Amino acid sequence: MSSIKFKLLYRVLVLFIFLFVISQFIEYKSFRDISIEAAENQAKSIAELVKASLTSMMLSNSMESKDMFLENIMKIENVAQIRLIRSESVNEQFKKNYKTKPTEEEKYVLRTGKPYRKLEENLQKAVFTVIIPYKVESFGNINCTDCHNAKPGDILGAISVKMDLTPLRDFATSRLLKISVLSFFVFILTAFVMIRFLKPYIEFLYKLKNGLSKAKDGDFSCRIDVKTKDEAEEVSNTFNETMGNLSKTLNHIEKQVAYLIGDGIKSSGNALKDTSMIVKELVNIYKFKRIVEKDSSKEEIYSRLRKLMKKMGITKYSIYEVDTSRNILIDIDESAKWCKDVVFTDADQCRVKRTGAEVNSEEFPCVCPNFINCSEEKESEENYVCIPIYVGGKVGIILQLIYNDEEKEEIHKKLPFIECYIREVAPVIESKSFMELLKEQSLKDQLTGLHNRRFLEELIPKLTKQILRRNSNLGILMIDIDFFKQINDQYGHDAGDSVLKKVAEIIRTTVRESDFVIRYGGEEFMVLLVDSQVGKAVEVAEKIRKRVEKSTIQVGSLLLNKTVSIGVSEFPADTDKFWQAVKFADVALYKAKEEGRNRVVRFEKDMWQSDEY
Ligand code: GH3
Ligand code: MG
Ligand code: MG
Repeated sequence: MSSIKFKLLYRVLVLFIFLFVISQFIEYKSFRDISIEAAENQAKSIAELVKASLTSMMLSNSMESKDMFLENIMKIENVAQIRLIRSESVNEQFKKNYKTKPTEEEKYVLRTGKPYRKLEENLQKAVFTVIIPYKVESFGNINCTDCHNAKPGDILGAISVKMDLTPLRDFATSRLLKISVLSFFVFILTAFVMIRFLKPYIEFLYKLKNGLSKAKDGDFSCRIDVKTKDEAEEVSNTFNETMGNLSKTLNHIEKQVAYLIGDGIKSSGNALKDTSMIVKELVNIYKFKRIVEKDSSKEEIYSRLRKLMKKMGITKYSIYEVDTSRNILIDIDESAKWCKDVVFTDADQCRVKRTGAEVNSEEFPCVCPNFINCSEEKESEENYVCIPIYVGGKVGIILQLIYNDEEKEEIHKKLPFIECYIREVAPVIESKSFMELLKEQSLKDQLTGLHNRRFLEELIPKLTKQILRRNSNLGILMIDIDFFKQINDQYGHDAGDSVLKKVAEIIRTTVRESDFVIRYGGEEFMVLLVDSQVGKAVEVAEKIRKRVEKSTIQVGSLLLNKTVSIGVSEFPADTDKFWQAVKFADVALYKAKEEGRNRVVRFEKDMWQSDEY
């Protein structure tokens, strides 16, 4: 980009050259025209003078002094030559041998009676020729026709006057040269004055340009100092004020943001870009919170967290939930576990759970010895940061990010935002978790920790549909503790409760995780064996019976042995009505009791004839 100074000089120069050429041309042209006109007038005067003198010479018969007269005339300044030419008619009338032979131009004037004028120029000379005809005319008392055999209007002769304009031309040329030199000095002076005048304005523009280009990159520290006491100074003051306001506002926003997000945000040096990025993220966080608030379960929130991680470009991470009742960590995704197995059996082995504070490996790589790659011999190559999310005043969820050294910088940029997301959604997660806990508790039996009847009622419509759709089979076991009343009677209710807990535990650990164990009534349990093979439920029932029989139950200092009776039916093998199948299991249980207890009875068709249940 060319500078203003150069542009200005260029324009002034072009304008000057233009004006100079035009003025010189006009000067030269007018000088030339005036010179020619003066020469022509001089020639005409000479012609008139000669004509009048010749006429009087003719009348006074003194034509012999003609040549002397012409010689004297020739002495007039600039007159180079004077020639008199006679027409043919005059030559004939006066029959005198006249020496002067007319040139082509003179012949033309004699023939046409029109005056002739011509300027001949070359480098050395400038000669102006004027040929003026003498026509027959009468002036005063004198009439040409008195002496000449001619009529008015006839051409009697002509006078050719050559004027030397060379001195005039030389004078004009030297004048033009002087004007050129003067113009050049005027140009230099004008350019100097203009540049001097414009210097502070050009500087102002440069400063403004720099300030604005810095502002474009988010740096509003630039101030302009201009003292021109005019619009430029006003503009610079407004610029300074605007920059001041902008940096003040951005500073203020930065402080507010630090309050919201923490001071972990790295400045890129472009305050405008940083602020717009931060505001955008804050809006996203707000939106995220609003969405999460409307989510119905913790599962949905976890899936939101996963989506958030994906959106933020974090690929390696884990979400752990702290199961406070069992004091273990549960890996929500059950995919890549980045912690040693010990934390999944004892939550206190997890440093975040234990301390309640964020754990970051960057300063001490093995700050948490239970990170998967940490061992005494080698430190982990992966970095990790584990962020706690509080639920009910305790660490309830842990978000763990894994990254290598190359990803460090990116993670540092993202971490304050992730923490802000977590801080914002934590109360929502907390209330959702709490609601879920409440719901879970309302579906749980407090004594044994097994599902209760309400749970069964909620479960059955879904479960039976699934079983039927999959053409699968559901084993139903109705289990009743034998002579349970005696325990209560002999050792009290607490002993009875201990027995209930123990039997519940035995049942739960004998069946699969995917099976359902329900405390159906006082000392009665129902087990739903999901997808059990037809006929195999009896085997599971037998396994339970044997395990209970073999177990000794410690109640205080006492060691008790208890047995159970189990009735077995299958859905839909026995009936495609679930509650009827339950009735069948109950009938079989009754049969087991009848037959002497501590046994398993498989329901048979002939045990129940009625359609009612
Ligand atoms: P059997 O089943 O072998 O016929 O004899 P049983 O003594 O077990 O029979 P019954 O069904 O008559 O007795 C059940 C008793 O279980 C009645 C009640 O006092 C007791 N019971 C029910 N719920 C609880 C409980 O939550 N805790 C305790 N300790 N006892 C309970
Ligand atoms: Mg009983
Ligand atoms: Mg009973």
